[in-house]
Amino acid sequence: MKKVDIIVIGGGLQGASTALGLVREGAGKVLMFDEQLPTQRLSRGNFGLTWFMCKGANNPNYAKWCRMATTLWPEFAAKLEEETGYDVELEWNGGALHATSGAQFQMYSDAVANLKKVCSDAGMDYPARMVDREEFASMVPKMKLGDEVVGAMYSADQGTVNPMGAMAAMRAAFQKKGGVYYGGMIVTRVVPNGDGTVTVKTSKGDYQCSKLVIAAGHGSSRLLEDLDYHLNVYPTRGQIMVSERIEKKLDFPTLAVRQTLDGTFLIGLSTEDFGHNSEVTTEAMKNQAAGAIKLFPELGKVNWVRGWGAARVMTPDGSPIYDRLTEHKNIYVLAGHSAVSLAPVSATHVAPWILEKAEAPQISHFSNGRFNV
Ligand SMILES: Cc1cc2nc3c(=O)[nH]c(=O)nc-3n(C[C@H](O)[C@H](O)[C@H](O)COP(=O)(O)OP(=O)(O)OC[C@H]3O[C@@H](n4cnc5c(N)ncnc54)[C@H](O)[C@@H]3O)c2cc1C
Repeated sequence: MKKVDIIVIGGGLQGASTALGLVREGAGKVLMFDEQLPTQRLSRGNFGLTWFMCKGANNPNYAKWCRMATTLWPEFAAKLEEETGYDVELEWNGGALHATSGAQFQMYSDAVANLKKVCSDAGMDYPARMVDREEFASMVPKMKLGDEVVGAMYSADQGTVNPMGAMAAMRAAFQKKGGVYYGGMIVTRVVPNGDGTVTVKTSKGDYQCSKLVIAAGHGSSRLLEDLDYHLNVYPTRGQIMVSERIEKKLDFPTLAVRQTLDGTFLIGLSTEDFGHNSEVTTEAMKNQAAGAIKLFPELGKVNWVRGWGAARVMTPDGSPIYDRLTEHKNIYVLAGHSAVSLAPVSATHVAPWILEKAEAPQISHFSNGRFNV
């Protein structure tokens, strides 16, 4: 049986960003296993926002965590590009969430005031503000706003990446730093040993590691059940619509609509409770298209050429789970939504916590046990 220092199960955005952090921290021999099922396309099927805005309205710790992650993105992307030569297509032009009524505008305005206070109490800035219709229109000069748009919540300090490019870069950087990536490797069982090591049973043989990180998205629950550990996550489906390529008109994304560097528009704000079914439906597409057209009516004239669905890994309070098993101290679990936005903190804060190198007071707020009441 092969013996290594750390195994990370899951090569999606969560696993790849954490595995990269581990090798950057000099963690020894680190392996990353990923089964790459076509149905497990979450990290390849998302919107690519690197955002803090609107996150953590009811959870100050998550608000601060997201703010910290976003602050780190430009440096994180630059380092990734330097290490790999990949272009992760980071666009750091801000982002907005539009309001279509006075009441909604006021609600967003209250949320900004609340989160500014939360972050300022923690010594952090919260660079979001409300812009009225006139100012919002001046920020998107090549697009015409719909009549119902009254303004928007806006921050200049966030952006987007190409999520597939970023994930590929993280995997590549991981390997350049000595990590070993195994695609097409299915982990069938995790068996803790009496001496604290863990045996990982896979489709290609058994491995033994000193520490195990389970970051397998929706695949984590099954592996953890064998250890009598219930992971508090559930699937919520999101659907994304993609247009033909047209002239680049929108320089920064809104939460519902973005335009990529190559000119395709993406619409994607649906949230549905359909278990692990990731099919697309005309109903969800119709609803989200109607919302997008309210914002930018000209999107109704663009050709929409494809779409896909993916099941988010959602927790009851929307913030991630970073946990260490009480009965098996060398097994760690990482799960949750927003793994694009949070990728930098996975590398810079979660990885050192796993290595027991750094105190991470924030991480204690994200235990799986917080839901077991
Ligand atoms: C429509 C939509 C839009 C989104 N937009 C954004 C956004 O704009 N910004 C943002 O930050 N987040 C966004 N997200 C969320 C983001 O996509 C997820 O947080 C992220 O992809 C989760 O990554 P993960 O690594 O945890 O899970 P996954 O991507 O599911 O990766 C887990 C990996 O583990 C592998 N695996 C599972 N079981 C096993 C096993 N037994 N053995 C080996 N490998 C295994 C799987 O094959 C998979 O490759 C969006 C999600 C959706 C659905």
